[in-house]
Amino acid sequence: MKIRLGLDIGGTTVHGIAVTAAEPHDLVVETTHLTRKGADGVVGGALEMVAALRASLPADAEIISIGLGVPGVVHGGAVTHAVNLGLDGEPLDLAAAVSLGAGGVTTTVENDVKAATLGGLQWLRDQGFDVHDLALLNVGTGIAAGLLLDGRLRHGSRGMAGEIGHLVHDPTGPLCPCGRRGCLELYASGSGLRRQWAGTAAALFDAAESGDAEAIRIRDELTSGIAQAISILVYSVDVACVLVTGGVVSATPALRDAILARLRADENTSLGRLAGIADRVRWLPAGHPAGALGAALLGAGDEGARSWKW
Ligand SMILES: [Zn+2]
Repeated sequence: MKIRLGLDIGGTTVHGIAVTAAEPHDLVVETTHLTRKGADGVVGGALEMVAALRASLPADAEIISIGLGVPGVVHGGAVTHAVNLGLDGEPLDLAAAVSLGAGGVTTTVENDVKAATLGGLQWLRDQGFDVHDLALLNVGTGIAAGLLLDGRLRHGSRGMAGEIGHLVHDPTGPLCPCGRRGCLELYASGSGLRRQWAGTAAALFDAAESGDAEAIRIRDELTSGIAQAISILVYSVDVACVLVTGGVVSATPALRDAILARLRADENTSLGRLAGIADRVRWLPAGHPAGALGAALLGAGDEGARSWKW
C-alpha cells in the first residue's frame, strides 16, 4: 500500500495524516502533536510526527512522499518567514532537512493556506464539484487565500499570491502591526473580532440582533470585510469557487448568512449579476483536515521545483 504523509504545522499543534496515494486518498492514520518552535524544534517535531505516523501504519505500507504546510512565506523550497513557528531569521530548508531525517523520502514544503487549497479541492471533488480555478479563503487569526489557477497552485514571484490580509479596507481605521492603517484583517479575521469583542461571533450576532449599536457596527465590519475579501478574489482572478474556512466562519451560521446577503446585495447591478459572486461561495465543514490532507497531496502534483529528495 503506497502512502503519502501530510503535516499541517500550526503555531500550536502539528496535525499529521497518512492517506493512500491513489484516489480517493483514503485516510489511514491521523494524529496531533504540540508544535515545537525554532529551526531545530520545527524539524525535530516534523520528524517525530513522521515517526509516529509510520509506527501506526500497516506493515505493508510504503511512504512515497511527505508534505509539510507551514504558516509563513515559502519560497524556493525554503521557509523564509514564519513568526508563529519562531522562524524569522535565516531561510530554513525544511523540506531538505525532513527528507534527510526521514530516510530520503521525497518531501515538499508549502505555505499552509496554499496546501489547504489542495485539501479543499479534494473536498469539493468528493462533493461532485470539480473546478480548475479555486480560491480557498482562510479566516483565521489573519485572513489569507490560496489560489489554484488552471489546476495549479499559484505562488507568484515572491510566494505572496493570495496574501490579501493587508490590503487597506479603511484608510482611517486603526493602526495595524504591519504599519498601515485599516488593513482588511483588522476587521475580517478572528483576531480582528477579538480586538473589538470579548465573546464569540455567535454572541456578537445575538447582541446585534437585539439592537446593541456597538455590536451592530462590529458585526457589519466583520461581514463586509469577509465579503470584500471574497469579491477581491473573484474580481481579480475569476475563480469558479471561493471555499471559505476558519473557526469564526464555520462556527457561526448567522455570519455565513450575513456574508451571502451582503454579496447578494451587490447583484442589483448588471456587473454584479454577471459576476454572481454569492453563488461561487462554499463553506468548508468545521473539522475538515484540509491543511494536512492538502500537504499530503503536495507530493501528488507537479510541484517538483519545491520538492527535495536525498
Ligand atoms: Zn496590515
